[in-house]
Amino acid sequence: MADNRVVQGRMVTPESLAELIEDDDIMDAEAIDDADRSCPDCGGDVLSVGYMPGITEFVTGFKCQDCDWSETDRDD
Ligand SMILES: [Zn+2]
Repeated sequence: MADNRVVQGRMVTPESLAELIEDDDIMDAEAIDDADRSCPDCGGDVLSVGYMPGITEFVTGFKCQDCDWSETDRDD
Protein backbone atom coordinates (compact mmCIF):
# COMPACT_ATOMS: atom_id res chain seq x y z
CA MET A 1 0.00 0.00 0.00
CA ALA A 2 1.27 3.44 -0.87
CA ASP A 3 -0.48 5.80 1.51
CA ASN A 4 2.47 6.63 3.70
CA ARG A 5 2.08 9.34 6.32
CA VAL A 6 4.40 11.34 8.51
CA VAL A 7 4.12 10.58 12.23
CA GLN A 8 6.39 12.34 14.70
CA GLY A 9 8.62 13.36 11.80
CA ARG A 10 8.99 9.85 10.42
CA MET A 11 7.39 8.28 7.36
CA VAL A 12 5.17 5.37 8.28
CA THR A 13 3.34 2.76 6.23
CA PRO A 14 0.05 1.24 7.42
CA GLU A 15 2.03 -1.73 8.70
CA SER A 16 4.66 0.29 10.56
CA LEU A 17 2.02 2.62 12.03
CA ALA A 18 0.06 -0.39 13.30
CA GLU A 19 3.24 -1.81 14.81
CA LEU A 20 3.89 1.49 16.59
CA ILE A 21 0.38 1.35 18.09
CA GLU A 22 0.54 -2.35 18.92
CA ASP A 23 4.18 -2.18 20.07
CA ASP A 24 4.61 -5.57 18.43
CA ASP A 25 4.59 -7.23 15.03
CA ILE A 26 1.25 -7.30 13.23
CA MET A 27 -0.03 -9.53 10.44
CA ASP A 28 -1.81 -7.11 8.14
CA ALA A 29 -3.02 -3.52 8.04
CA GLU A 30 -5.54 -1.53 6.03
CA ALA A 31 -4.96 1.95 4.62
CA ILE A 32 -4.25 4.80 7.03
CA ASP A 33 -7.19 7.16 7.54
CA ASP A 34 -7.72 10.48 9.25
CA ALA A 35 -9.57 9.96 12.53
CA ASP A 36 -12.24 12.55 13.24
CA ARG A 37 -10.73 13.50 16.58
CA SER A 38 -7.86 15.38 18.16
CA CYS A 39 -5.12 14.06 20.40
CA PRO A 40 -6.15 14.33 24.09
CA ASP A 41 -2.54 15.06 25.05
CA CYS A 42 -1.43 17.69 22.54
CA GLY A 43 -4.44 18.50 20.33
CA GLY A 44 -2.65 17.22 17.24
CA ASP A 45 -4.17 15.37 14.33
CA VAL A 46 -4.96 11.70 14.94
CA LEU A 47 -4.64 8.95 12.35
CA SER A 48 -6.50 5.66 12.41
CA VAL A 49 -5.54 2.32 10.97
CA GLY A 50 -7.34 -1.01 11.04
CA TYR A 51 -5.07 -3.97 11.50
CA MET A 52 -4.87 -7.61 12.44
CA PRO A 53 -2.46 -8.38 15.27
CA GLY A 54 -3.25 -12.07 14.63
CA ILE A 55 -5.58 -14.13 12.49
CA THR A 56 -8.43 -14.06 15.01
CA GLU A 57 -8.49 -10.36 15.87
CA PHE A 58 -9.18 -7.08 14.06
CA VAL A 59 -8.34 -3.85 15.88
CA THR A 60 -8.73 -0.19 15.01
CA GLY A 61 -5.76 1.75 16.31
CA PHE A 62 -5.36 5.51 16.73
CA LYS A 63 -2.08 7.43 16.79
CA CYS A 64 -1.27 11.10 17.20
CA GLN A 65 0.90 12.51 14.41
CA ASP A 66 2.74 14.82 16.81
CA CYS A 67 3.33 12.96 20.09
CA ASP A 68 3.52 9.49 21.64
CA TRP A 69 -0.22 9.18 22.34
CA SER A 70 -2.00 6.16 20.90
CA GLU A 71 -4.87 3.86 21.75
CA THR A 72 -6.93 1.05 20.26
CA ASP A 73 -10.63 0.26 20.29
CA ARG A 74 -9.73 -2.56 22.69
CA ASP A 75 -9.17 0.14 25.34
CA ASP A 76 -12.82 1.28 25.31
ZN1 LIG B 1 -0.51 14.22 20.54
